[in-house]
Amino acid sequence: MRVTVAAATDIGRVREGNEDSYLLQDPLYAVADGMGGARGGEVASNLALDTIQRLFDADEGSLTEQVEQANRAVFERSQSDRTVSGMGTTLTAALVQGDRVRLAHVGDSRAYLLRDGELTLLTEDHTLVHRMVVEGEISEAEAENHPHRSVITRALGVDAAVLVDEGIVEMRPGDRLLLCTDGLTGMVSDDEIASLLRETSDPRQAVERLVETANGAGGVDNITVVILDFTQGEPDGEARTTSRPAIPTPTSPTTAPTPDRRDDTFVGRPIRRKNGGPTGGRSRLARKAGIGAGISLVVLLVAFVGLRFYLDTQWFVGVSNGRVAIFRGVPAEVAGLDLSSVVVETEIPAEDAESLAVWRDQLAEGITTDDREGAEGVVEQIRADVEQAESSEP
Ligand code: MN
Repeated sequence: MRVTVAAATDIGRVREGNEDSYLLQDPLYAVADGMGGARGGEVASNLALDTIQRLFDADEGSLTEQVEQANRAVFERSQSDRTVSGMGTTLTAALVQGDRVRLAHVGDSRAYLLRDGELTLLTEDHTLVHRMVVEGEISEAEAENHPHRSVITRALGVDAAVLVDEGIVEMRPGDRLLLCTDGLTGMVSDDEIASLLRETSDPRQAVERLVETANGAGGVDNITVVILDFTQGEPDGEARTTSRPAIPTPTSPTTAPTPDRRDDTFVGRPIRRKNGGPTGGRSRLARKAGIGAGISLVVLLVAFVGLRFYLDTQWFVGVSNGRVAIFRGVPAEVAGLDLSSVVVETEIPAEDAESLAVWRDQLAEGITTDDREGAEGVVEQIRADVEQAESSEP
């Protein structure tokens, strides 16, 4: 089978850097969505892809083993370099082997198959909300707009070992495979992705339209898409095409050379837009019960390391030991697991803060913020309100 490839990555309209990366190294393709710290995310996603690329070149191990090595590389760097400590990355990789595609997947990036006009999700999101849906705690609809929908439960680089989902798809001529980060799926519904993929036969145009659509819907996150089109014919056996966006990752959509173009020129129109509006609910299609004839998705337990929650730089203010406190994590419990830890216990008695109507309910639920500074700001506000209430008492 012949494979034609196109890819694009874009900073989106809100973020200040692009922490996504992709890898096109015929026959190995991948997307990675890094997270953590100012530069951690970018380092994590690039290091993970560099590692699988290097191991693939050296013909070392299976795809899953290469992903496990990538996990170790990110984890060790995170442990040894304070400037990137706590970083992690998702990784969704596709290795074309004749008429088959082997998938390896960790995190909330996705692989989809468009076959006969129908779009099927091939991967399972390793997210808190997906788990809550599976546990029956929330509905699919609630998951779409859940405040913690970006919290992922599995990532590369968080622990010394990682559980990698693996699958094999038997491809047919006419099939189109899409790899993408959540900057696409968080903004654009599966129905919209499906119709766009059906309407746009040129993969280079399709990747650009997907990016434009995600940006049009708000572009709150970095967006990365890779499309592989499978057609009848012999694979192009000559010169392996290798292309990786240089570090730092590009801030404009780039279209990669297709295997038969054999040049390393990136073409594509830069569209860098900032200060776009936020919002845009995460739309998702319930995963189809049957994945379809000819596709077998096999999930292998490679290394079970227990349920670890990677809490994507989440902070909140709540109550601990009768005092107002700053927590890291999310104010939620899943399957009896507490998903937060206390970072600072202030001297402010919870009772004093709870006597103020404005803070009572919020504290009970947990006041979430984007970072530690935000949480400290909330604490300062509570402190000021408590002091004011005390001074106005007779
Ligand atoms: Mn993302």
